[in-house]
Amino acid sequence: MAKIQYDVAVIGSGPGGYVAAIRCAQLGFKTACIEKDKALGGTCLNVGCIPSKALLQSTEYYDWLLRHALEHGIEAKAPKVNFPQMMQRKDQVVKSHVDGIGGLFKKNQIDRLEGTGTLISPTEIEVANGNEKTVVEAKNIILATGSEAVPLPFIPFDEKVVLSSTGALALSSIPKKMVVIGAGVIGVELASVYSRLGTQVIVVEMLDKICPAMDQAISRMLLQSLKKQGLEFHLSAKVTKVQKGPNGISMAFEEEGKEQIIDADVVLVAVGRRPYTKGLGLEAVGVQVNPKGFVTVDGNFHTSIQNIYAIGDIVDGPMLAHRASEEGIAAAEIIAGQQPHVNYLAIPNVIYTHPEVAALGFTEEEARTAGMQLKIGTCLFRANSRARCAGDTEGMVKVIGEANTDRLIGMHILGAHASEMMGTGVIAIEKGATITEMANASFAHPTLSEAIKEALLNALGRAIHF
Ligand code: NAD
Repeated sequence: MAKIQYDVAVIGSGPGGYVAAIRCAQLGFKTACIEKDKALGGTCLNVGCIPSKALLQSTEYYDWLLRHALEHGIEAKAPKVNFPQMMQRKDQVVKSHVDGIGGLFKKNQIDRLEGTGTLISPTEIEVANGNEKTVVEAKNIILATGSEAVPLPFIPFDEKVVLSSTGALALSSIPKKMVVIGAGVIGVELASVYSRLGTQVIVVEMLDKICPAMDQAISRMLLQSLKKQGLEFHLSAKVTKVQKGPNGISMAFEEEGKEQIIDADVVLVAVGRRPYTKGLGLEAVGVQVNPKGFVTVDGNFHTSIQNIYAIGDIVDGPMLAHRASEEGIAAAEIIAGQQPHVNYLAIPNVIYTHPEVAALGFTEEEARTAGMQLKIGTCLFRANSRARCAGDTEGMVKVIGEANTDRLIGMHILGAHASEMMGTGVIAIEKGATITEMANASFAHPTLSEAIKEALLNALGRAIHF
C-alpha cells in the first residue's frame, strides 16, 4: 500500500473541515482533506444552509409578490411558480459554492483525497474509495465529519415520503400537504418554504413552544407570525405513529390527551441531528466519545489522543457552520503553536424564516437562571421608520445587559434582515462593550439598525421614539 505523508490531514470538507484545511495550508503545513462524497462542502453547502437559503430567498420573493406587492402599488398579474426552475437555480447556487472550494484547495495546494477516512493508528488514516485503499500518514489529524439527521425510531427516512432536510430540499414537485415533526430551526425554515409555495403545512412539536433554545419572547412572536402566514402548529403534542400508505403517510399524535390522525403526502422529520462518526475508527485508536456520541475534547480541541483534534458538529455545542469554521481555524493555529480563542458567547444563531430570528449570547431566561441582575431594553420594528417604509414592521430588538457592569451579554432580533443586523451585537460582545457605549454610537437614519440603538436607549431608560 502506498503511504502519503502530511503535516495535517483533515477528515471532512464541510465548513469546519475545509476552513481548517485552508488555515493549515496558510500556516505552511502540507495538508490533505479527505472527503467521502464526490462534492466538497459537507452538509452546509450541499444539503443544508446553502440550498435551504436559496429556496427561502426564492419563495420569499414569491410570497412578497402574492401578499405585499399590491399595497406598494405593484400589480403583478397572477405570479406563478416554476418549481423545476426554482430547484435548478438552487442546485446551481450549490454547485458554484462547491466548485469554489475546489478552487480554493488548488490555490492553497491542499490535496483533496476522495474516499472514506478511517483512523487505523493515531497517525494513520485509511482512505477507501470503492475497492481502492490508500494509507495516509499525518502528524496531526483534524476530525470534522459533522452530523446527520436523527430519524424517528418507528419510521426510517426514505427521502421520498419520510423526509429529512436532505429529501425536503430535493423534492421533484410541490406537495399538497406536509407534516413537519419538530418545530426547531429546520422545521420552521422548511415549513416556511413549502407553505409559501402553497403546501398545507402542519407542524407538530413535543414542547409547548417553537424553537425552544430562543429567547422566549422572540419564540412567542415568531409563532404568532408563522401562524398568520398560514402554518398550523400543534404544540405539546406527542407523535405516536407514522405509517406509510399508498397516498403518502398517516400520522397519529396525542394533544391534550386526545389522539389525532393526519394524512399527508410527505412528512419532514426535523427532531434534531446527531454527530456523524460512522466508520471513523474512533474506538480502534482510543478517541473517546461522550454518552451522546459526541467526541470529547479539551479547551484546545484535542481529543483523548493528543495529536487528533475534533471540531464542529461532532463536538457537543451549537450545530452551526460558522462555529465549526471558527473551531477549524483555531485548531489549525493551535497545531502551529499559537493561542487562538473562540468566544462562544459571540457566536450568533440565525433562523431564516420571515421575519428572521437572530440570537446572540444569553437569553433572558438563561441569564435569570444563572442568577444575573439584568437591564433589558426592547424596540418594536413598528416604531422604526425604515421598517415602516418597507412595510415590514413585524418583530423587535431585545438587548440584555448585566446590571452592575452595564456589559452587553445578549441580543435577540426578530425582524427582516435580523441576521445582517446582528453583526453589531457580535462585535460588541466580542469587544466587551457596554450598553452605554453602544447606545452612544451613531446609527444611520433611516435604517433597521436604529431599532438596536432604541433598544439600547430603552435599557438605559431613555428611549427617544416610544
Ligand atoms: P432542533 O434541535 O433545532 O429542533 C428539533 C425540534 O424537534 C425541537 O423543538 C424538539 O423539541 C422537537 N422534537 C424532538 N423530538 C420530537 C418528537 N418526537 N416529536 C415532536 N417534536 C420533537 O433540530 P433541527 O431543527 O433538526 O436542526 C438540527 C441542527 O441543525 C440544530 O442544531 C440547528 O442549529 C442546525 N441548523 C441550523 C440552521 C441555521 O443556523 N439556520 C439551519 C438548520 C439546521
